[in-house]
Amino acid sequence: MLALTGKILAQPSALRAYRFGNTYYVPVSDVASYYGLGRDDRELVNRAEFKTSFGHLEVEGDRRDILVNGVTHWLSAPILEARGRLWISELDILKTLDPVLRPGRLRKAGTSIRTVVIDPGHGGSDRGTRGRFSLEKEMTIDVAKRVNRDLIGNGLRVLLTRTTDETVALEDRVEFAHMKGADLYVSIHFNSGGSAEGIETYCTAPAGASSTANFSGSGGDRDTGGGDRDTGGGDRSAVTNNRFDGQNVWLAHCAQRSLLQATGAMDRGVRRSRFYVLRYADCPAILIEAGFLSSPTEERRILRSDYRDTLARAIADGILTYKKTVDSH
Ligand SMILES: [Zn+2]
Repeated sequence: MLALTGKILAQPSALRAYRFGNTYYVPVSDVASYYGLGRDDRELVNRAEFKTSFGHLEVEGDRRDILVNGVTHWLSAPILEARGRLWISELDILKTLDPVLRPGRLRKAGTSIRTVVIDPGHGGSDRGTRGRFSLEKEMTIDVAKRVNRDLIGNGLRVLLTRTTDETVALEDRVEFAHMKGADLYVSIHFNSGGSAEGIETYCTAPAGASSTANFSGSGGDRDTGGGDRDTGGGDRSAVTNNRFDGQNVWLAHCAQRSLLQATGAMDRGVRRSRFYVLRYADCPAILIEAGFLSSPTEERRILRSDYRDTLARAIADGILTYKKTVDSH
């Protein structure tokens, strides 16, 4: 199983990866020490936790969800338990851990975030999902307008893909962002499905990784990101938006963390999918599912104006945190 000779990852350098089957993995303890997260002296077989002032990482064998700096992230491959150690795939180091643990490296000289496109999901004849007293299309535009209000005065140009209850095709949403020269694209949705609760944030799956859209503790049908079908777990193809892989996951992390801190909602994690508006976006892009209208408890909260203010403020704060990290000074 284990290749006798490892390879040194081009980036991050100094980490040696070993092949299991068709995938390269690195011992989680090596990764933790590389990023200054220290060691876990308990040396448990199936779980590990690393924590220093540089960051926090928690993993468990066979699981696809890990905790990084207060946010759950869904990996392209489960944490591997082999040879008495835990291993994380090369792809997940490059596409999840590295951007989240070293976001400063995403900064590019001479660039800064100026134009943000906020995309209120659904609209017009496309109602989206519905709760007992609410329609998704109405909640999304309400929150989008509040995000717009909160971002004004921060040196940003903020544009909405729709400002009224109108039907806007997914292609037109993406095209709008492209025409306006968007530096960021943030799509806002509400969720539905079984007895599930909580907040999740999507970004494009990296090439070679399957979607994690359908991984959940609960069954039921799910919102599909704007009338869009996720292309499913079997699709691992590269898409246009993959050139922003690092920025995408960092933006998703900032938004998800800010939302969790502001609301105390259950953390359903940063997930990966190839939703239309994500895979064709010409800039870093995320899709936020800000709660379940199918949950009576969450719907009651979402129907409150002050709670929608909290959601909007948190989304705006997440965007501003991202901007602060990647803008060159
Ligand atoms: Zn939706």
